[in-house]
Parts: sequence; C-alpha cells; structure tokens
Amino acid sequence: MAKEELECSFCGRKKPETNLLIAGLDAHICDRCIEQAHGIVLEESKQIDNSDLSAELMLRKPLQIKGFLDEYIIGQETTKKVMSVAVYNHYKRLLQTPSKDDIEIQKSNIMMVGQTGTGKTLMAKTIAKMLNVPLAIVDATVLTEAGYVGEDVESILTRLLQAADYNLEKAEKGIVFIDEIDKIARKSDNPSITRDVSGEGVQQALLKLLEGTTVNVPPKGGRKHPDQKFIEVNTENILFIAGGAFDGIERNISKRLNMQAVGYSASKSDDVIDHNHLLQYIIPKDLKDFGLIPEIIGRLPVLTYMDPLDAKTLRSILTEPKNAIIKQYEKLFEMDDIEFQITDGALDFIVEKAIEYKLGARGLRSLCEEILTDAMFELPGTEEKELKVTKTYAEAKLNKSTIKKLKAVS
Ligand code: ADP
Repeated sequence: MAKEELECSFCGRKKPETNLLIAGLDAHICDRCIEQAHGIVLEESKQIDNSDLSAELMLRKPLQIKGFLDEYIIGQETTKKVMSVAVYNHYKRLLQTPSKDDIEIQKSNIMMVGQTGTGKTLMAKTIAKMLNVPLAIVDATVLTEAGYVGEDVESILTRLLQAADYNLEKAEKGIVFIDEIDKIARKSDNPSITRDVSGEGVQQALLKLLEGTTVNVPPKGGRKHPDQKFIEVNTENILFIAGGAFDGIERNISKRLNMQAVGYSASKSDDVIDHNHLLQYIIPKDLKDFGLIPEIIGRLPVLTYMDPLDAKTLRSILTEPKNAIIKQYEKLFEMDDIEFQITDGALDFIVEKAIEYKLGARGLRSLCEEILTDAMFELPGTEEKELKVTKTYAEAKLNKSTIKKLKAVS
C-alpha cells in the first residue's frame, strides 16, 4: 500500500489527516483514536473501582465487619457491634436503588463518646481500611464559622478530597472522622451574645454537611476567595463519625439516672447501675445538656461509648492486634536477623507504668520506644542475634526522668 493510502482502521482518517499513525499487525491507529481509547480505559477502570465497593459490601455482613474490627481493636465490644450495623446500613443505603415505596433510608452518622486514647480514631481508621474508602480526620477545635480566624467547615471536605486523590466519586463515598466534637459545645456559663466563642455557629455550619448537601469546596483548602475554582462535593453519602471525650458528662448522666431512680423504685435501679462506668448509660439528652444543639445530635443518630482501658486491655493491645506494637518491633528486629523476645514481666511492667503515669494506650508505644531505642541503635550490624527484654532490662532503660518526659509529650 502506498504511504498516503494508509488510514486509521478505527476512524478511517487518511495518514495525511493525522499527526501520527501507528501500525499494528493488520491495522493502524491514529493519535486521536489512541486518545479516545485511553479515555475509555480510564473511565472503565473508574467504574471497576466503584463497583468494588458494592461487591465488597455485599460480601461483608455486620458479623464479618465486627470480625474485621476484632483483628485490630481490643475490647470495645458494644461500639464494635453498633458500628458494624451502622456501617452496614449506611452502605446498604448507598446501594439502594430508587423504589416505588418511597422509603428513604436515613444516614447512620455515628457519635462516639469516650476518653482520649480509647481507640475512637482507630475505630474510624479500621472501618475506612476495611471498606477501602478515603478517610479524613479533622479536629473540630480548629473549625470556625466563616469570617473568623481558623478553618472553614468546608475544609473538612478539602481533606477528604485530598485523601481520595481528588477522585470526586470516591470522596463522595468516603468517611469523615470529626475528633473533639465536644469542644464546640455551647457552654452554658459563657453567655456571650455579641461573639460566637461558644462554637454554636460551628455546630450550625456542620449541620449542613451532616444533613447532606452540595458544597463548593476549594480543592487546595484555605479561605474561599472569588477567583478560586471550586469542586462541588455532595455530602449525601459521606459517612460522618464524630468523637469526643465529653469530660464531665458523667455528672449529667448520674444526675439524670438519680432523677429516674427517684421516679421509679429507687433501690432497685440503683443496684444495677455501675457508677464507675456511667458512659454506658449515655442517651442523646445528655449530649444536649452538655451543649450540643439538638439538630446536631439528630444528625448523628447512632450514639455509642468507649470503655476506659484497664490493665488487661492495655496488656492485650501490646501484643494481640494484627499490627500490635510488639509485633512491629519483632518485625523491625527480624529485618536485621535479630530475634526479639520480651518477657511477660516486662510487658506487665510497661502496662503498669502506662497506668501509673496516666499515659493510656498512646503511652504504650512511647514507653516501648524508650526501652528499645538503645538496642535498635546498637545491635544492627553486630554479631548479636538475640535480644531478650526482661523486667529488669526495661526498668534499667526507663528511669523516672524519661517517664516524666513522656508524660509531658502525651
Ligand atoms: P482516641 O481517638 O480515642 O483518642 P486513638 O484511636 O487515637 O484514641 O488511640 C490511641 C492509640 O492507642 C492508637 O495508637 C491505638 O492503636 C491504641 N489503641 C487505643 N485503644 C485501642 C484498642 N481498643 N485496641 C487496640 N489499640 C488501641
């Protein structure tokens, strides 16, 4: 065939009409068709990505979701159960096709109440990992109403977009974890009428996101300004999980329970109440009394609590989860062909110190780091192929001043 007679086997353009014509075995393809085909490939792979979610979800029932959480999170049985159901229902809602019966499943946004370091963030992270959806973790304390110094509430969605690599479809099915939600509660002893120092304005702004709305989001974050291009994000299918310590809420719970007890037969209800762990009796009204506006509470309908971590739980956290701290050190040493062992006595000692200095679960890692840094520095590259950490070894590495230092950081 003469050169000028060559044509694209897909669109029929003659060679002179193309910029580039690539020859295959019996066919040719022009630059334009290559570009188009590339577009189709991208589109298809996106669809596969999205269908992943549904396939994954249809496979995982609440029991299995809980099973997955069990691998990473110790204890917190109630929350794991409540979360499994909420997440299952939330994604069932996503897969729901419009039906004739007009039953619209409402969102199952979640509110987790519990002391810091009890695993609230871990819970959100693990759910996102399981579903393979993007997760944005934001701190409610930095949020302000538009017009004040701080971050606009929309910045939450910027984070989510970033976590989704700017894939809008993925972001719109993602999870947002709002930490320290209690810090934007309205304080009854702070009756400022001129300025919103109380956080109520932030609560109002958050409300819209939780409800499900379309928001213009500045993709790179920062303040909105007129020349900036926006991405429209629909929050309808984003799962919001809020967490907070709600320090002192036990008082509200206790007061309410006492009042109920007076109303009923006092002695009877009193012996079933566990006064050391009042959070388990939390109801939405307690959040309202704490200073959250009822609309926010209504938009976070799944309310659950975290148990405080006792010694037994802390001990399990060290060794049991799939990526437990001790397993991580084993792996690190193994990479240098060093067999790492730690005795029960040493583990108990670490837990004891974490409790004594109120370092919680977060402190476990710092304590281990303090104990093992010398060994991690000195052993690699030497003849030493074994490290056995006993209580005496741990004690020697951890003196009071290092613990004090940890306490200051945590
Ligand atoms: P919170 O968000 O409640 O302040 P985090 O989820 O950040 O707490 O937990 C702090 C650290 O403690 C994390 O590194 C986490 O791995 C560990 N941790 C806390 N609770 C648990 C738990 N129940 N199971 C396993 N690890 C936990």
